Amino acid sequence: MNQIWNPEYETMGRDQLRELQWKRLQMTLRWAYANVPFYRTRWEAAGFAPPDLRSLEGVSRIPFTHKDDFRAAYPYGMFAVPLERVVRVHTSSGSAASPTVMGFTRGDLNTWAELCARVATAGGARSHDVAQITLGYGLPTGAFGLHAGLERLGATVIPASTGASKRQLLIMRDYSVSVLVASPSYALHLVDTADELGFDLSQLTLRTALLGAERWGEGTRGRVEGRLGLSAVDNYGVSEVLGPGLSFECPMKQGLHVNEDHFLVEVVDPGSGEVLPVGEEGELVFTSLTKEAVPVVRYRTGDLARLSAKACACGRTLVRHSRVTGRTDGMLKVRGVNIFPAQIERVLEEVEGTHPQFQIILDEKASLDQMEVRVAVKAEFFPDSMRSLLDFRRRLEGRLQEELGVRATVMLVEPASLPEDIAAQGQVVDRRDKS
Ligand SMILES: [Zn+2]
Repeated sequence: MNQIWNPEYETMGRDQLRELQWKRLQMTLRWAYANVPFYRTRWEAAGFAPPDLRSLEGVSRIPFTHKDDFRAAYPYGMFAVPLERVVRVHTSSGSAASPTVMGFTRGDLNTWAELCARVATAGGARSHDVAQITLGYGLPTGAFGLHAGLERLGATVIPASTGASKRQLLIMRDYSVSVLVASPSYALHLVDTADELGFDLSQLTLRTALLGAERWGEGTRGRVEGRLGLSAVDNYGVSEVLGPGLSFECPMKQGLHVNEDHFLVEVVDPGSGEVLPVGEEGELVFTSLTKEAVPVVRYRTGDLARLSAKACACGRTLVRHSRVTGRTDGMLKVRGVNIFPAQIERVLEEVEGTHPQFQIILDEKASLDQMEVRVAVKAEFFPDSMRSLLDFRRRLEGRLQEELGVRATVMLVEPASLPEDIAAQGQVVDRRDKS
């Protein structure tokens, strides 16, 4: 099952890989500085010029690039080459008035296909497979990257695009589809559609699913794998950086390998922007190392994850990041500590008897932040004596303090009332005086 598309790069020695990254980083910085006025202006204002960089670690002194920088440069301001050399344009999927715009040279498209061939191979796709792509063919990057990658490895590609779920199921059955490319929620939707139609899923010949384009977890993986009778792997992309092809799961399913010969990855503290040690949770930041049309330097994704440098049993030496656990958009600051609602969700998921449903109330007492977490308790688990109720609450508070590094008071509530409160007030109620 384990096969590697490009062993030369995917299993390269770490020292050799860092040497390659260092060379490519210097080229990228010179390229961006010389050809994109945005970078030149931003870096000069920060007192940085590419020759100042002495090592790969020095990258931490280069200013970040944000989504808003792309928006401000709409439409072609981030391009490093004349349109004459651009053969494809994609935009972000956001519905904002000015989307972010990406361009690809012929060379960029070639690299993209190579990286997506790695993704597909790691997920189990082979040249004899028939692959059905149910992502949208349009301005966003989703479908096109994996389409090119699957073609490159020699699979038979069916560009089914989105929607018409009944027809998707018929195509899957009649064309003997073995590889499904979808978003996790669409894969589940196909299962629901089959149930509604009385469509027998056991007629299908699916073997693997390459799922991406949204945040999902092990629960969803179990359901998709169980119902569709396949192995489902995750892949990750950010449209401003590349789209799919940035990182991918291997058969071990223990994190996503980053295509590090083409991208430098960092995890930073979302508040201070400081680079965090490997293993700590923070915001993923990427720098492209080979892109021609739209090089990106220290792009802040807003996605939270942690890195693992441990050797992977699949043989790839590429660093892994965890599944994305949340967005920096939802970050709260409590007594100077960064708190993400996803951390609380994780604790509740592991404590028996709680719903992963909760509301956070932030208040202030004598200028000190107070945090209360209102937790819904499943009716059948509701302890019958006052004493066990208090014990249960204390245990939960202990686990939250361990995870968050900040004390939180837990209030146990009936499951029925919480969804209404959340709908009315939001998941986070901040009553602190922010003046
Ligand atoms: Zn691996």
